[in-house]
Amino acid sequence: MINPFRSIAGIEVLVNEPLSKHTSFHIGGKTRYFVKVYSHRALNKVISTIKRQRIEYYVIGGGTNVLVSDEGFPGAIIKLYGIFRTMKRTGDIVHCGSGFLIEHFLQKAKALGYGGAEFLAGIPGTIGGAIKGNAGAFGKSMADIVMGITVLTDQCVVSRFSNKEIEFGYRQTEIRDGVLILSAELKLIHRKQRDIVSDIRNNLAYRRQRQPTGYSAGSYFKNIKPYATGKLIEDCGLRGLSVGDAEISRKHGNFIINRGHAKASDVLKLANIIKKRVKNTKGILLKEEVRLLK
Ligand SMILES: Cc1cc2nc3c(=O)[nH]c(=O)nc-3n(C[C@H](O)[C@H](O)[C@H](O)COP(=O)(O)OP(=O)(O)OC[C@H]3O[C@@H](n4cnc5c(N)ncnc54)[C@H](O)[C@@H]3O)c2cc1C
Repeated sequence: MINPFRSIAGIEVLVNEPLSKHTSFHIGGKTRYFVKVYSHRALNKVISTIKRQRIEYYVIGGGTNVLVSDEGFPGAIIKLYGIFRTMKRTGDIVHCGSGFLIEHFLQKAKALGYGGAEFLAGIPGTIGGAIKGNAGAFGKSMADIVMGITVLTDQCVVSRFSNKEIEFGYRQTEIRDGVLILSAELKLIHRKQRDIVSDIRNNLAYRRQRQPTGYSAGSYFKNIKPYATGKLIEDCGLRGLSVGDAEISRKHGNFIINRGHAKASDVLKLANIIKKRVKNTKGILLKEEVRLLK
């Protein structure tokens, strides 16, 4: 098939691209088209082409909260660069492109003397991905700092949603797949740089102490209040259990680690074992935080 995006300026297209290269799990089959988009105009054209040709599509940010199936994705994966990775300030409101990496966003906010987002330190991925899943830590989440977002709907219409309309919940929102977050308005607070630096440093140290390194997508399951899911899994004696090269971290029970050559099917089998054991032993049904893309 001829690349349907070939005449569009402001994009790069990789054909039959392995998604294992674009996810923190380092797992996943190929996508037919991996489309890197650099401008609003190009994005409109990409979505129009997708609609016209009835191509399935999905947007990824850092790929740090997704498990891609071994069969890959038959359509187009969209990833945002260029204009979607810029940030500007109007008064105390920061306008941030959705493709901005959280790490870079924190550095830039700190340089401007803006704090209030330090809870994000150590969470990999992009602002767009963080909003979609209401990422958070240390009792705070994106819901606390997002005032509104601008999106491109699957009907190619640009719309604004307020914080309330996003309907933030625990690690979830009402933003449908297919709706692309373009940018966000974030409310930060003036803080002394040394206080920001100190909080970021403490949060990173806490993570280093409690979370494993290695290929993962962070916590695999959501916490079910009042329990910490990692502790539930550890109490069931599952620490270190593996299927193929997928292993339950010995450091944190809610992290599934790819030791190098794990397949998505290994991760899914291991996740099912965890769910069954926790249900049978504790009577609690775990729900996935990681999103499956197939
Ligand atoms: C080591 C490690 C630690 C982690 N710690 C935490 C933590 O403490 N707290 C936490 O909440 N999460 C944590 N995570 C999970 C993950 O980093 C966050 O959920 C992050 O916000 C996902 O961002 P992303 O850009 O990688 O999204 P992706 O994984 O690329 O995508 C996640 C979802 O967002 C959607 N999406 C991405 N960009 C857009 C966009 N522009 N428009 C519309 N939809 C979009 C995707 O379609 C997908 O549905 C951790 C992950 C790792 C690997």
